[in-house]
Amino acid sequence: MKKNPGMMFWEVLKSFFKKPATIKYPAEKFDMPDKYRGKLKFYPEKCIGCKMCMRDCPTGAITINKIGEKEFEAEIDLGKCIYCGQCVDSCIKKALEITQDVELAQFDRNKLKVTFSAQNKESPEK
Ligand code: SF4
Ligand code: SF4
Repeated sequence: MKKNPGMMFWEVLKSFFKKPATIKYPAEKFDMPDKYRGKLKFYPEKCIGCKMCMRDCPTGAITINKIGEKEFEAEIDLGKCIYCGQCVDSCIKKALEITQDVELAQFDRNKLKVTFSAQNKESPEK
């Protein structure tokens, strides 16, 4: 469909007053929707080592290791994870949580393998 120049000028003028559809990422951050499933988080103090999360994970992305008396760590391969949330649903102790963190990009794929333990609750440095 052809547009006449007057209409086009009007469209251009209108766009000057519109909020941009994009942001200056990463300088500006964006809010993800409430139900967005991003990076996983593990709470070692809640884990009882039942391994239900491991059993139910469809991609084998999570491994629970016993590291002491009633002490467990979770190894999660964020590169294998499909963010389905099954492990969170399977955990009766609520030791796993899906966050809204989307910033997963890495140059080295091995850095997507993170270990959460009492000593290291957060992902290693990027
Ligand atoms: S299902 Fe929950 S409590 Fe059981 S091993 Fe996994 S994280 Fe720990
Ligand atoms: S979110 Fe899904 S794919 Fe990722 S570790 Fe949990 S069960 Fe596995």
